Amino acid sequence: MTTSVGTFERWLYPSPSGLYCEPGGFHVDPGQAVDRAIITHGHSDHARPGHSHVLATTETLQVMRLRLGSGAGGTQQALSLGQRLEIGDVAVTLHPAGHILGSAQVLIEYRGMRAVVSGDYKRRADPTAVSFELVPCHLFITEATFGLPVFRHEPDQREIGRLLASLAAFPERTHLVGAYGLGKAQRIIALLRRAGFDRTIYLHGAMVAMCDLYERLGIDLGALEPVGDTPKEKLAGEIVLAPPSALADRWSRRLADPVTAFASGWMRVKARARQRGVELPLVISDHVDWPDLMTTIAETGAEEIWVTHGREEAVVRAVTLMGRRARALALLGREDEAE
Ligand SMILES: [Zn+2]
Repeated sequence: MTTSVGTFERWLYPSPSGLYCEPGGFHVDPGQAVDRAIITHGHSDHARPGHSHVLATTETLQVMRLRLGSGAGGTQQALSLGQRLEIGDVAVTLHPAGHILGSAQVLIEYRGMRAVVSGDYKRRADPTAVSFELVPCHLFITEATFGLPVFRHEPDQREIGRLLASLAAFPERTHLVGAYGLGKAQRIIALLRRAGFDRTIYLHGAMVAMCDLYERLGIDLGALEPVGDTPKEKLAGEIVLAPPSALADRWSRRLADPVTAFASGWMRVKARARQRGVELPLVISDHVDWPDLMTTIAETGAEEIWVTHGREEAVVRAVTLMGRRARALALLGREDEAE
């Protein structure tokens, strides 16, 4: 299909509340409470509270209920991956995004046109998320969290190997790993298990409920225990996971001479690691890096690319050089999610 400038904007466009599909009467990941929302995944900058009706995968709905309670949506409707649903004059299908448990891309079909709203996504294998599926489309709406050529994530197992090597080298020190509490933390645990680490992993209290939910949804994380009042001596030589915000605060004083690690795509930037006092930066991200972003854009076959949150300018320029149309969508309220 060859479309002209503005073809997609006639039915899919950014409204003050977020991306709106007019013939379907719904927003995708709206930044404010709306009547009908389709939610790509449970991170707080995508899954806002207070929508009257929410459509998402079962896992995302459960994450929203855990995090938002009664704010998780007036009515909730689960849609399985690959199941096609007609809404108004459009058809909607969710496809795996590989970002976190339950994350989905939204395929919207309207009058022969296929638009994919990717939400956040990654191409790397992740034991806690269904792998990204490439969905051919005419319009691809992509994130650009790491949309600069400098961002290249390391192979996960290499980073996990560095963590385990440090633990072996400093058996008297607690290894405190900062990781975002939804998705990243559980992925790190699962990667440690795959690398053969079978000891108890200790958790900051803020992470316990989400890890429990992952377990209930079938993701085996092995032996976990809240740090709670565990004596310092017992935590020597152990791995403790905590939200990034806890790395530098009083809480970490209960640990035995901690080695501070932080698992994030931003750890590619050495100054960021230094600023946060991170001794062991682990470049592990739940977003595509630059090479995977460029590959994905090319592989979708989309003739038009819209770029949401992140480093839009560099991506728009690169896409234009590929001979495709590109525009930056200025959607409000997206965050780096300490990712
Ligand atoms: Zn996310």
